[in-house]
Amino acid sequence: MSISRREFLASMTGLALLASPTGPARGSVLPSERYALVGNVLPGNRTPPLKNHAVLVDKGHIEAIVPASKVTDRPIVAPSNATILPGIINAHCHRMHSPEERSQRWLRHGVTAIGDTASPLTAMPLLADSPPGTTATAAMAGPMLTPPGGYPLPVHSPEHAMIIRSAKEGRDAVMRLSDLGAGMIKISFEPGPMPKAWPCFDPVTAASICSEARKKGLVIRCHVEDLSGLEPALDAGVHTVEHVPHRWNTGQELRSVLHRTNGKVEPIPYYQSLLERMAHDSVILTPTLDVLSRSVWNGPELHEPVRAYAAMGGRLALGNDFPYRRTEAGMPLREMNLLAMSGISNNEILESATAISAMACGFTDRGVLAPGMTADILMVKGDPLMNLGVLSDPIHIIKDGVFVW
Ligand SMILES: [Zn+2]
Repeated sequence: MSISRREFLASMTGLALLASPTGPARGSVLPSERYALVGNVLPGNRTPPLKNHAVLVDKGHIEAIVPASKVTDRPIVAPSNATILPGIINAHCHRMHSPEERSQRWLRHGVTAIGDTASPLTAMPLLADSPPGTTATAAMAGPMLTPPGGYPLPVHSPEHAMIIRSAKEGRDAVMRLSDLGAGMIKISFEPGPMPKAWPCFDPVTAASICSEARKKGLVIRCHVEDLSGLEPALDAGVHTVEHVPHRWNTGQELRSVLHRTNGKVEPIPYYQSLLERMAHDSVILTPTLDVLSRSVWNGPELHEPVRAYAAMGGRLALGNDFPYRRTEAGMPLREMNLLAMSGISNNEILESATAISAMACGFTDRGVLAPGMTADILMVKGDPLMNLGVLSDPIHIIKDGVFVW
């Protein structure tokens, strides 16, 4: 991210012009504890924008959102033409473990929290280390739980997996990960490419992992790229489906997940019925179109199921699966643009990137601008509802109430 000196000074000028008598002196540093951010406020949950409102922040939390004219008791930061929205959450990514890496690769670009959806056990203490106001908060899953030989073992290094041979081992692993600070667990139903399917969990083991995770209050994230894995995943009771299913390995042949009907391309009826079940059960889909579009499947197999799911009222989280297939860290604009290609509106994309991604990661204290929430906030120039590109160059990035930019 870069910010011009002119924009920075314009922002500071807004501060100086509107600062209350008790606020910082003209041209001084940004306020630190108790202040108001003024602009058009997008709370992050599809609420219509609140024009010329103030987000009141006190000691790292949001105190209230009020009309700007009501603010008389604290310094005001009011850059011209600013929109205020929650920090962006990349709900599905990997690898950037240390606080320093998460600061450089995520926070300094406006991504204030991430969901690390599988990493080695050794990464968990690094991901848990989040001094307030310094780095992107991480929800973590630890290693993926998998049966012997199952995904991710055929493609990723063994430290990314924990091998589970029985229902009891599954329950024990969930308890161990929970004790290590995991807020999520990750499993998969992934047969992989033809002809020989990779092993997947039997229903008893999968259900016991999921029921233990629910008992512990952990979000159950499930990798499903192949349609054959979707029904067993839903039967097991997962909360999220990671990667939009885009192919169908029946065991005998590879089939399309789409068909043409009345001149329209849409998911086959079996897939439609599973998407309807997901929408009914409030299962979150994290399509990860950025990574999948870099494969041979780039096309309607990715976009049509996402379009269908959104049309049913299904909830979409935003994640790009960094760093696989050369996806990039920073503001996940490519994922946003691909969601737009699936017919998702900018307002829905912003909800996905904030409130719904927070749910997918198990964050209950961030993802929307509301009283009591942690002050993870972006101020951007212009209107992201008109142009998501303005997210790439925030005026201010606020983490736990601290101005980091
Ligand atoms: Zn992933």
